[in-house]
Amino acid sequence: MAKVMTINSGSSSLKFKLYEMPEEKVICSGNCERIGNADGIFTIKYGDKKDVSYPVFPDHSVAAQTLLDALVEKGIIKSFDEIKAIGHRIVQGGKYFSHSEMFNKDTEEKIRSLIPLAPLHNAAHLTCFQAFKNVIPDTPAIATFDTAFHQTMEPEDYTFPIPYELTEKYDIRRYGAHGTSHKYLSQEGLKYLEGVKHPRIISCHIGSGSSITAIKDGKCVATSMGLTPLGGIMMGTRTGDMDPSVFNYVVSVTGKSAEEVYQMFNKKSGFLGVSGISNDSRDVLAAVEKGDPRAILANNLFNRRIADYIGQYYVRLGGCDLIIFSAGIGENEPRTRSAVGKLLNEAFGVEIDEEINKDLRGKEAVISTPNSKIKVVVIPTDEEVMIARDAYQMCIVEGKKSN
Ligand code: AMP
Repeated sequence: MAKVMTINSGSSSLKFKLYEMPEEKVICSGNCERIGNADGIFTIKYGDKKDVSYPVFPDHSVAAQTLLDALVEKGIIKSFDEIKAIGHRIVQGGKYFSHSEMFNKDTEEKIRSLIPLAPLHNAAHLTCFQAFKNVIPDTPAIATFDTAFHQTMEPEDYTFPIPYELTEKYDIRRYGAHGTSHKYLSQEGLKYLEGVKHPRIISCHIGSGSSITAIKDGKCVATSMGLTPLGGIMMGTRTGDMDPSVFNYVVSVTGKSAEEVYQMFNKKSGFLGVSGISNDSRDVLAAVEKGDPRAILANNLFNRRIADYIGQYYVRLGGCDLIIFSAGIGENEPRTRSAVGKLLNEAFGVEIDEEINKDLRGKEAVISTPNSKIKVVVIPTDEEVMIARDAYQMCIVEGKKSN
């Protein structure tokens, strides 16, 4: 048995989970929020307790020290030595990483070189890695990349049709995201496919950020997010795929700078932009119930883009044995699952069992009828356990070191 910590850091937050491995038992979890602000929030859950305090986190180092001290103070661990490995989630691994890697100078340099592709995330991940290294320097750490699972795509699935010199010179291509989640879902989904020789899965990670992935024989063959998480289906605040000329046209008619329009497409579009109400699907669906026309348009756009991608991936896979819904909306929103199921009915014979679907929130279940031509399931995703598994395997079973 060994304690393994997973870290999911953003520019101003640091989420953590401490596992007992290989049992995969969660000992505690929590979040340091508002790092860099004067009013930090520290939440830690352990056993049946949840403690919230308001320390100031000037930077990620202080946040790391605060959470490690809290583990000892609350008697969750006796000393820092008990933590045998750390797994850091890294958003962008570019062309370099097709699986988790030990954190060392080379890994750090590669993550640093990819900062232009994920400016907020990769920089924060490195700061956070250094923060833990400062406090527990001898604990081995791994990097688990959101892009790694998608590295099995073929050039026809990841190349953008721009001048090829640019593709080569700047590594411009589809990298995708949510890879750790899609990998988890594809593995969990196999239990519904006993006897299927070459399982074809379409996994739909539908949350405030959303992506859809086509998986054959356990490998990603196509995914909806692109160079960055702006691509693919419409999302809470992001446009997803569009005619690229919209960008240039908006710049020219509004007089806004390219950067301002880029921010608009990332932060003010999607559900929020079309509905004018909210980035949260719950608010948009409440307005749909009241007949708000823009909420209805936003919701219909969203559902159709999901169905479009499923149709595209059905062709890419040469059929489909399992559709998986997951993440905030996929796990908790029966109306979205039902609407997408209806859009897929005529072409693919998908039938959702509305009785099962209507009350299903945050739990795993088959939601298609026995007659459905494709099985449809809801599986709550778990990216952290994938990181903990890799950290345990690499640092403890294989005994790899970080330096
Ligand atoms: P995620 O990014 O996976 O955390 O998903 C967040 C989004 O999921 C929110 O913006 C909501 O649109 C949706 N969501 C989260 N919880 C629920 C819920 N209980 N019921 C319906 N939708 C939810």
